Parts: sequence; C-alpha cells; structure tokens
Amino acid sequence: MITREDMLELAQFQGHGADCAISFFFQPSRPTNKAHREDAILAKDLIRQALREAEKNGRNGGARADLQRILDLAADWQGNQPRARVIFACGSRGIWREFDLPPHFAHTQLFVNRRFHLKPVVLVLRAQPRLWLAFVDRHRARIFDLHLDELEEREALFHALPRRGRGDGFAGYDAGHAERSVNDEVQRHYKNVAEYLRQGQETGAFDNLIIGCQDINWHEFETHLHPYVSQRLLGRIVADVGTVTEQDVRQQADHILRQSLDRHRHGVVNEILSQAKSNGRGVTGLRRVLRSLEMGEVRILLMSENYSARAVECGSCGHLDAHMVRYCPLCGRGTREVEDVCDAIVPAAICRDIELFYVKDDPSLDHVGNIAALLRFRADQSKGRMAAAS
Ligand SMILES: [Zn+2]
Repeated sequence: MITREDMLELAQFQGHGADCAISFFFQPSRPTNKAHREDAILAKDLIRQALREAEKNGRNGGARADLQRILDLAADWQGNQPRARVIFACGSRGIWREFDLPPHFAHTQLFVNRRFHLKPVVLVLRAQPRLWLAFVDRHRARIFDLHLDELEEREALFHALPRRGRGDGFAGYDAGHAERSVNDEVQRHYKNVAEYLRQGQETGAFDNLIIGCQDINWHEFETHLHPYVSQRLLGRIVADVGTVTEQDVRQQADHILRQSLDRHRHGVVNEILSQAKSNGRGVTGLRRVLRSLEMGEVRILLMSENYSARAVECGSCGHLDAHMVRYCPLCGRGTREVEDVCDAIVPAAICRDIELFYVKDDPSLDHVGNIAALLRFRADQSKGRMAAAS
C-alpha cells in the first residue's frame, strides 16, 4: 500500500550532482496470458539496458548498485503475479522504497532521472480513491473498506429491535405503543450508523462513500447523514445487508466509481475550458500553466494522459520555462534541459496539494495544447481589483 505521506516524500525528492532517482514499474500480464514469462524477460532487458547507459554516462555509483539490486529481485518475479511492483531508489541518498499496487499500469517501465517518476502511481491512485461501502437496513449495517483492490469488512453494526407480540399487553393501545418504540429504535440505529460514517469522514478514513440500502429505507436513513458525509457520497445501490457478497461489493463499487470519475472528469474539463475562454479562473497551454504554478494560483491541473513536453529548469531558483532559454529569465543563472516537463510539475503538484487530472483522448483539450489548469484566484486580476479599490 502506498500512502499520501509516501507520495509526498517521493515528490519532495530532488537529485543533486550525481544522484540518480530510479523509478521502476513492473506490470504483470493477465493470469490468462500464457506469455507471462516474457514479462520478466522484458523487465530484465529494460534494467540491463539502463545499466549499460549508466556505465556509458559514468554513473557508476548509486545508479549501478540500485539497478543491479532491482535486476536481482526481478529474477524471482513471476509474470502472472497478482500485483504490480514499484520501486523507487536513490542509493547515493539512501532511498529504497518498494510497493505493491493493483496491476493497472500500462506496461513495465524504468526511468533514471533527477526526480522520481510518479505519474503511473498518480493514475492508479486517482482511479481508486479510498472507498467505504455501507450496507444498511432497519437494524443492521455492514461497512466495507475498498482501497487499491483490497477489500476488508471493517464493521458490522447490529441493533436489536424490541420484540412485538402477545407479551406486549393488550392489543389496541399497546400495539401502537410497540410500533412507536420499534420506530424509535430504528431511528436510533440509523443515527448510530450515520455517526460512525461521520467519524470516518472526519478522520479521513475514506475519500468517497457508497450506500447500499433498499428504496423503502433510504429516505429515512438519508436524513441522518451529516452534510460532509453526503458530499462524499458517490451513489447508492439497492442491496440487502444480509446477503451481500464480496463479489457484489467489488462489482458495484467498480461500476459506480467509474461512472462518477467520468462524470467528474468531464465536469472539470468543461469548467476549465469555459473559464479559460472567458478569461476567468482557467488557463491553457504549457507556458501559461507554468506561470500559474509559479504564482501559486493552481487548484486543479489537467493533462492529456500521454502529454509530454520539453522545457528548461533553472538550477538555482527552480524556475521552469517552456522556451528553451540558456539563462533563467528570473535570476540569470544557467538552465538545464528537462526532457519531460511532467517529471517536474507532477511532484510540484503533489507537494502543493494540487488535484491532478488525466484525460484520455479529449479533442477539446488537445486543441488547447493538452495541458490546462483551474485556478484558485488570478493574481493579475486580484491586483487589478485592489488597484481599483485604492
Ligand atoms: Zn533562476
């Protein structure tokens, strides 16, 4: 499992001098694929090639030892293992991190760079936020936690209802009384479940929530949900608490999650592009996005999934420039080339808690340069307003 703290730590890393940041992603093929042995061969080829390049470039220190260590590990990997393997390493700085993730990488990849290559992990984490599924009826509740393909039932709440029957007294008055007391107990139960969910939301135990509940109970239960919990609700499914199986939970969650992510992504693309058109809180194109990142204006960063662009970075102040200039326009020091600007902006986005969105094949984003951002504010416009007010 990879946590937010892990991501932050990896994002903050930047190599100096001869430091090499190695990022390795091993994607096993589907169990049905008989050619799984080729996965391991491909992985080893990639590592050997990187070893040769490291030697050619005179990086015989950390990179070589790290690559050799990955090569030794890869000897034991089976192509048909259920999880993908990720390694981030920088021997000269004493960093070695290994993670298992769901096998949803595009393919096996290796990067040797100044920073860790985090985009494949961001893509997997985005597709699978930490999800709770709460199945509720009038006296029972079961709560499941689904994160990175791992499903766990974390809580079963059961609230005994008062018995109704002959022993409750005379029919008539007491029957009505018993009915009311059952209803009170049901409301109390709903309240308990809602409180459990509120605490989960408050402690950050889940990002999103799905409720499984029969139609007749939903309206009553819904009124007990805290507004912050309701905001995290992705959808509801009609389900029975007693008979729901692990397979149901996974299937339904996958379906609702995919739908809601698509909807959300679509909404974000439309909002950014329309804000950019009206010269509001949206900007498009690398040059403008880099400027907004530097100004601290960006709230959401949007990129095509295969976006890549060259840029230069100032070795002194860290300024990124879409023009391949030899000297930094801000501080005048020398710049160095960044093969893919994403390797610099993805970690920056993670460090600053900027939401990252990747979009596949969207002609409207393609049209504006495949990169765009939604801003919290626009520094130029706030200054304008302040000047006008004074
Ligand atoms: Zn500079």
